[in-house]
Amino acid sequence: MIEIRFHGRGGQGAVTAAEILAKAAISEGKYAQGFPNFGAERRGAPVMAFLRISEKPIYIRERIDTPDVVVVLDPSLLGLVDFCSGLKTAGQLIINIPQKREKDLIPFKSKYQVAFLDATMVALKNMGVPIANTAMMGAFIKVTEAIGMEALREFIRERFGRIADKNLAAVEMAYEKTVIWDAPPIAEDMDEKAADEYPIEALHPWNELEIGGDITRAGSSKDFLTGDWRTTGRPVSDLDKCTKCGLCWIVCPDMVYSKNEEGFYDWDGLYCKGCGICADQCPAGAIIMRSET
Ligand code: SF4
Ligand code: SF4
Repeated sequence: MIEIRFHGRGGQGAVTAAEILAKAAISEGKYAQGFPNFGAERRGAPVMAFLRISEKPIYIRERIDTPDVVVVLDPSLLGLVDFCSGLKTAGQLIINIPQKREKDLIPFKSKYQVAFLDATMVALKNMGVPIANTAMMGAFIKVTEAIGMEALREFIRERFGRIADKNLAAVEMAYEKTVIWDAPPIAEDMDEKAADEYPIEALHPWNELEIGGDITRAGSSKDFLTGDWRTTGRPVSDLDKCTKCGLCWIVCPDMVYSKNEEGFYDWDGLYCKGCGICADQCPAGAIIMRSET
């Protein structure tokens, strides 16, 4: 699954872009969600829209906090909105920016794959209005290859009716003009999968939590390396006693165990906080807690 967050201002079509791309993905047999997140609902206010595209059914429903791709429709958000918040290491940043400001993107280059174009100029040339959303769809397709151009053409025709041709011309010009800088190297001790699994900004301050502190994103415990908390010892399994019942996997509050090909349960020290519940609950007495010092 690929998760995309759009940043723009009210009236710039971020929500429409997410919706059209979702429909185009679905028409290709994929699964997709496209939905908005409004702050103050007025023209010109910063807005976000979210898009998920997957080859498999999508069961999560919440906003996207750790996207694979960020699309910025409005260059004036640079320095004003932290649009890279949560963007995965080596994730893709696609931004509309005037040519003379391209150097402002250099600080992002070491962490993300940066792609950019002057989408406002493309929109003005092809449609006569500075609304960059369709141009940014062309850039999105070029950078991510998540959707084919033909599927996008079909939904632009459906959505824009008599002005569809102008929008299509903007998409195609944007596709040509988008510049893609090389992706940054992944740190030596962190392969690509690990980079996805350990988003940089997983902790939220109190004022960003859901009411009641509810956890609404499935699998979010992976964002927290609770293995750092372990001070008193770690569980050790005796495979000769283990009956492969799986109870340790069920009772562990941090999903530390995973079933291996032989049916036994592997332990992951990155997440085990040493609470001892698994050792307490194992019906075969196969787990003991052992000091690590
Ligand atoms: S709870 Fe005990 S017996 Fe069951 S799988 Fe885990 S280690 Fe094996
Ligand atoms: S000690 Fe606690 S955190 Fe560690 S594996 Fe057992 S149940 Fe999980």
